[in-house]
Amino acid sequence: MKLQQILFSQGFGTRRACAGLVYAGLVRHAGRELDDPDEDLPTEGLVLNVEGRDWPFHAQALVMLHKPAGYECSQKPKHHPSVLTLLPPPLRQRGVQPIGRLDEDTTGLLLLTEDGRLIHKLTSPKHHVPKVYEVTCKHPLAADAVPRLLAGVVLDDDPAPVAAAACEQVDDTHLRLTLTEGKYHQVKRMIAAVGNRVEALHRSRFGPLVLPADLAPGQWCWIPGWPAE
Ligand code: URA
Repeated sequence: MKLQQILFSQGFGTRRACAGLVYAGLVRHAGRELDDPDEDLPTEGLVLNVEGRDWPFHAQALVMLHKPAGYECSQKPKHHPSVLTLLPPPLRQRGVQPIGRLDEDTTGLLLLTEDGRLIHKLTSPKHHVPKVYEVTCKHPLAADAVPRLLAGVVLDDDPAPVAAAACEQVDDTHLRLTLTEGKYHQVKRMIAAVGNRVEALHRSRFGPLVLPADLAPGQWCWIPGWPAE
């Protein structure tokens, strides 16, 4: 693929802006400064360095963000900045969107992609993708809280009970809860249904993906090759 087209596809602005980056000497490959926007490069395994930062080529962007508290997942945030402001401009330019939502005060693993089909697949209740939440409750947990969450509790908007796929009590006030659906405020409402209140909520896993211990709040990383088609 031509260098200018590669830069364009990776979100570096208009074709003219992409050529401008090359002419300004800001694009390098394997230590060599590239000076011809029409140069053909193989995209497989390609890592360009643009303005001093390495950019592995990805036909579709899929990234993991460690969401801090105080950011909204909505495209039109009302009270706090959008999580998209934590990503560099080329990713925003590509139109990446969160795969499902976390509340403003929830922290942890958030996936974002530009692939609408993938968003649909991973958020559809049909696919039962497990998500693991670390839940800190305000009050010590009642003895029957875990069995009730596993058996299913009724939320205020639907008579059909919702159950945790797994639930483990970590200590007096801390639960590890696995859900395979993503209803509005689901964890908070399930905990309220067992007579308690969520003080802090953190998502540690999404499907097979675990939030890496070295990914600090506000940082993001690429997820190459997942999920396999
Ligand atoms: N359940 C909630 O209540 N909030 C979240 O952010 C995610 C799941």
